[in-house]
Amino acid sequence: MALSFAATSNPSPVSPERRAEILAAPGFGQFMTDHMIRATWTDGEGEGWHSGELTAYGNISISPAASVLHYAPEIFEGLKAYRHEDGSVWTFRPDKNAERLQASARRMVLPELPTEDFLESLRVLVEADQAWVPAYGDGEKSLYLRPFMFGSQAFIGLKPVNEATYMVIASPAASIFKGGPKPITLWVAEQYARAGAGGTGAAKCGGNYASALRGQLEGAENGCDQAVFLDSSTHTYVDELGGMNVFFVTKDGKLVTPELTGTILPGITRMSILELAKEFDLTPEERKVEIQEWKDGVASGDILEVFACGTAAIVTPIGGLKWQGGEAPPTAGEHGGEVTRGIRERLLSLQQGRTEDSYGWMHRLV
Ligand SMILES: *Cc1c(COP(=O)(O)O)cnc(C)c1O
Repeated sequence: MALSFAATSNPSPVSPERRAEILAAPGFGQFMTDHMIRATWTDGEGEGWHSGELTAYGNISISPAASVLHYAPEIFEGLKAYRHEDGSVWTFRPDKNAERLQASARRMVLPELPTEDFLESLRVLVEADQAWVPAYGDGEKSLYLRPFMFGSQAFIGLKPVNEATYMVIASPAASIFKGGPKPITLWVAEQYARAGAGGTGAAKCGGNYASALRGQLEGAENGCDQAVFLDSSTHTYVDELGGMNVFFVTKDGKLVTPELTGTILPGITRMSILELAKEFDLTPEERKVEIQEWKDGVASGDILEVFACGTAAIVTPIGGLKWQGGEAPPTAGEHGGEVTRGIRERLLSLQQGRTEDSYGWMHRLV
């Protein structure tokens, strides 16, 4: 039976004045809305998912023996809710997030949450907190939704959990770029990998981020904004960034991205950009990309543009590439290349409801 979420309104929500202040400059991931979603899964006795509820946002209590605190069974999703001109609130391809959460759950031996329950959880939270969805036309602001699930069974032993907790929290978000997208510089992490063959690179799990952070910091120490990770066995092929997929626009009209070999997170932005390629007269190509091809390509002009993509930043131009002992010539100019900017605007206009949703990608929440 489908989950329902019993609602208890927050008795002391953030005041409208304070909320307006927050929405004027939300940053990213700093402020949470008034409510949250919670549901529990219990194995045995035919229980499955139950106890769905919407409650006031607040701290939660779990056992110090909870599996997630020891062995890290934790998976998550990230998507954005946008207000359209008529006041309605929409999100982008949430069915794909639901399917990916299910795939992550299978890999991490957590229970799968049915798509209809996932969609309903987003709807209930956004309906309760709709005042937190930034206004139409307010730059690139959105309400970022963070569904996540973790093993909450109190048991210090390694086996599949018999209890899991699913939650959704929401946080208003501004564009990470002030005054339009600016190209970032990447550090080639040669010492650190974020995923290995047979590992969890294709699952959206918290542990991947914990392990990628060291490479990210190494990049920061070398004056870079983010790190790009290579395949862990040969350090030859480009995988992706810590939290974004990567694309190359080539001189011969191709839109190239590393193929999904199990170590790359299958981004929904990535998938959508591959489908949009034809609108830009580009041939999408998923294949292995050597880091050397990147270095040589930007030097020779065979690669015209490089960009990263993901829900949080949508599309980010990549202007520089550095590694231990070298750097590639800059690409992208001041605001990124023409194709990069075109794809970014195309996605954003669809998400904000400024153009017709010809792909049927948008899903109304409120
Ligand atoms: C979430 C994520 C992405 C981007 O996925 P989207 O569905 O486009 O937001 C890319 N790489 C990693 C490692 C991620 O966790």
